[in-house]
Amino acid sequence: MLRLRIIWLFAAVLATGCNGTSQPDYERSRDRMVTDQIVARGITDSRVIRAMGKVERHLFVPEGARRYAYTDGPLSIGEGQTISQPYIVAFMTECLSLKPDMKVLEVGTGSGYQAAVLAEIVDKVYTIEIVEQLGLRSKKLLADLGYDNVFVKIGDGYEGWLEHAPYDAIIVTCAPNRIPDPLKDQLAEGGRMIIPVGGSGIQYLILNTKRNGRIRQVSVLPVRFVPMVNKKGIKY
Ligand code: SAH
Repeated sequence: MLRLRIIWLFAAVLATGCNGTSQPDYERSRDRMVTDQIVARGITDSRVIRAMGKVERHLFVPEGARRYAYTDGPLSIGEGQTISQPYIVAFMTECLSLKPDMKVLEVGTGSGYQAAVLAEIVDKVYTIEIVEQLGLRSKKLLADLGYDNVFVKIGDGYEGWLEHAPYDAIIVTCAPNRIPDPLKDQLAEGGRMIIPVGGSGIQYLILNTKRNGRIRQVSVLPVRFVPMVNKKGIKY
């Protein structure tokens, strides 16, 4: 009887653990990502921490890269584009000091991951992607996941999205050589914009705050983002 039970147990372990079809424990990896990469590095905004712990990052990366979804780095999402390192997503989101009733503009939808993190925190997210294939894919994924407060547009984010302006916060996830004037104009009074600025070598995240119609800029972190380009692929 004991031998039978041992055989049964062995078979059960084989079936669940070693047959190559078992799912990685994404929830555990995500919890660890939040503890080791986000909180340990000084992110304190509880809304940001909660959102990073909730959004299933593995669903936003290509299937072959899923097991790396919670590792400490950027990942390729196809079309020559990348999804940012989790810490950078959290850092940029925290810089915006978001509140639940806010309206946010994102330039560079990419995988849709950053948009999902924003959508967990604020009321409405407007996001623009210039590569049609990426924009359409992310639009569908975000809808499938139930993010009905995210609005995706295929277009050139240099121009912003005038129809829904002004925005309480703007986040740009591709790097121009200088900050687009339309984005400065579409930032609400008292609003914040975080944007990587610079060439293919050194870039800095610049935090912009609008007070009495004037923009104050502070450089906060050296980074490396894909370039902001126009429809012909030429860098701004
Ligand atoms: N926020 C994304 C990462 C984006 S990578 C995420 O969470 O996955 C930067 C994206 O900016 C790329 O998808 C790129 O195609 C897009 N991009 C580059 N120039 C752009 C422009 N002028 N307007 C809108 N999107 C642009």
